[in-house]
Amino acid sequence: MMKSIVLGYPRIGANRELKKIIEKYWRGDATEDEFLNVGRQIKSENWKLQHDLGVDLISSNDFSLYDQVLDMCTTLGCIPQRFEHLDGLDQYFAMARGLQNKEVDVTAMEMTKWFDTNYHYIVPEFTSETKFPLNPDKILGEIKEAKKFGIQTKPVIIGPVTFLLLGKEKEDGFNRLDLLSSLLPCYQELLELIASEGVEFVQIDEPILAKDLSREEQLAIKKSYSFFANNSTKLKIILANYFDCYGANLNLALDLPVQVLHLDLVRCRLQLDDILAHPLFNGNKILSLGLVDGRNIWKNDYEQSLRLVEKAKEKLDSSQIWIGTSCSLLHSPVNLELESNNEKIPNEVKQWLAFAEQKLGEVIDLTTLANGEEGGIILERLSDNKRVHSLKRSSKLVHNGEVKKRLENLQESDSQRKSPFTQRQLEQRNHLRLPLYPTTTIGSFPQTKEVRIQRRKFKKNELSSKAYDEFLFNETHEAIKFQEAIGLDVLVHGEFERNDMVEYFGEHLSGFAFTQFGWVQSYGTRCVKPPIIYGDVSRPKPMTVKWSSVAQSLTKKHVKGMLTGPVTILQWSFVRNDQPRSATCNQIALAIRDEVCDLEKAGIKIIQIDEPAIREGLPLRKEDWATYLNWAIKAFRISASGVDDSTQIHTHMCYSEFNDIIDDIAEMDADVITIETSRSEMELLQAFVDFKYPNEIGPGVYDIHSPRVPTTEEIENLLERASELLPIENIWVNPDCGLKTRDWPETKLALENMVRAAQKLRQKQ
Ligand code: GLN
Ligand code: ZN
Repeated sequence: MMKSIVLGYPRIGANRELKKIIEKYWRGDATEDEFLNVGRQIKSENWKLQHDLGVDLISSNDFSLYDQVLDMCTTLGCIPQRFEHLDGLDQYFAMARGLQNKEVDVTAMEMTKWFDTNYHYIVPEFTSETKFPLNPDKILGEIKEAKKFGIQTKPVIIGPVTFLLLGKEKEDGFNRLDLLSSLLPCYQELLELIASEGVEFVQIDEPILAKDLSREEQLAIKKSYSFFANNSTKLKIILANYFDCYGANLNLALDLPVQVLHLDLVRCRLQLDDILAHPLFNGNKILSLGLVDGRNIWKNDYEQSLRLVEKAKEKLDSSQIWIGTSCSLLHSPVNLELESNNEKIPNEVKQWLAFAEQKLGEVIDLTTLANGEEGGIILERLSDNKRVHSLKRSSKLVHNGEVKKRLENLQESDSQRKSPFTQRQLEQRNHLRLPLYPTTTIGSFPQTKEVRIQRRKFKKNELSSKAYDEFLFNETHEAIKFQEAIGLDVLVHGEFERNDMVEYFGEHLSGFAFTQFGWVQSYGTRCVKPPIIYGDVSRPKPMTVKWSSVAQSLTKKHVKGMLTGPVTILQWSFVRNDQPRSATCNQIALAIRDEVCDLEKAGIKIIQIDEPAIREGLPLRKEDWATYLNWAIKAFRISASGVDDSTQIHTHMCYSEFNDIIDDIAEMDADVITIETSRSEMELLQAFVDFKYPNEIGPGVYDIHSPRVPTTEEIENLLERASELLPIENIWVNPDCGLKTRDWPETKLALENMVRAAQKLRQKQ
């Protein structure tokens, strides 16, 4: 018999109960007990749900009060020194978010993206002094907690090599892999304790295997699992890799003394053939087939999945095949049933979707079908599944002939501005008449409580659209007056009509749907609700022309149009899986292109197309970078290339390192790029300098993440640094990013200082 396995389950609760209670606890409005009780409730519901459905391998320790990597730090006793005098939850949350009160002032640990997902983990910190005193309480506690309900779980832990490699060295001249020898005994002790709970399987996640590994890193993997194999316990190891195939690490993986190898067959279907045919795979391992997509919201195509199971069955005994999710369901929204009254998802589209709870059902269905269990019901479900997929394939909601035709007819020239940059720059100088060191902002102004209240009222139909428009007009008007008053050169309308930079565009484009409760954890208590792109994307009518024109009509200065770019819209949405991402991206690019052209027609001479997500779209393996960058950069260019030479295209990117993709960024050929640089003291600018980046550039001169007001002098200094590095006629002056999370008082002071700094630099010329 084949078994069913789920790699992990969402922990935020279907109604974000965990988020709500933690935030209440942080505010001091809930006791530790109340808060931990909600956690226990969620865990037990998740376990019972999976158990009742018949999942064979159910995870424990997939729950977390903040983040699973942070949990691993506390389990392994890897606590940076600055937190050592704290304990319990205070210590835990201080590591996650920093702590500042009368007695304590410690900064948080860093946070970064978990592989290519939008989940952020806490980055472990290592020095040569790091010790690993084991603290197994959480893991053992959860095993026991589940046992109370009669459920034997498989605990999930992050593997030693992934743990080390995802962390950071906090000391020069030392390599964190050197810690492996002292780390392994700690793991070993943990495994023994787990085994003593009567556990049969432990899932060790090593998704680092989906990346390119050096020889040394590969050896670390080999060393770790050989070490575990010598243990005296009977604990069986499930080695889980996901988000891509094993690739060049396949020989290594097949040779490891583990009992189960998990494969993400959603991201990489072909690896199954490779493994089944591999000389090192002699059938002595169980293969866990990750068939149900943990990263997207589409219903599984049973026929397609069963074909893969059949392949495995040709070579393996059924006891050697497991059927499961591709990765943890952490990255899926929780329950589709909550959307039954949501009118923003067409009913037809709802039938194509599966969230975490539905995915559990799919794992069970597939296992039942693969095991060939008789019974009318399961066959009915199979034919239902076939019917849904065949209807989807021909649905008018998905397919728009005009969009497809336009895509087919795309020419090379559609991604090319009329003239090269040097010529455009001359034209733009003639037309725009901007001073040296032109000042601008990145787009949004403070989204005050009032702005959010009015938007909510409008969305709930408690405010007429006339009244809402009036409100927005006044906000925009105030913003323009303010920008004129302090002497900014290129103004923005302020983005008061937007909730967020993707949702706003999704709501105006065809082919997008919006969930009401489709929350996915992004970090800690922060959740996001990505839109769903289900069909060919088109733009029924202009999306931003109205507010940009209104703003432009209020001033003689240039108002910059403000758009989100195609790659960022794609990257921050659930994307259809029936065509390549590049095709969907090009469709969005064409819609944005039309918007850019309409803005130009409406008299807007400067248009910014934000692309903060270009870098995070990079594939895990370097060998796949070129293909991605090729279509992603081209999509941006398609969106930007419909305008005359005299129209100036800006782009903006934040949270990016540019070193290894600087030539691709140059290839975007935006007339002006604004980037985040202030926190790194202009260090991030170096890539542009080394590359001799030819176009204009606005290195952010102050950090917008903090309410602190930068002094004129500080900004002047940064600008002087930039002026030593770049041709001064190419330099723009702007903050690091949009100002929507800030309040007006600090925004006003900061921008005044910024303008003053630019004026001082001009005087020096
Ligand atoms: N124009 C957007 C804003 O100012 C850009 C946001 C971003 O880069 N993340 O809010
Ligand atoms: Zn930004």
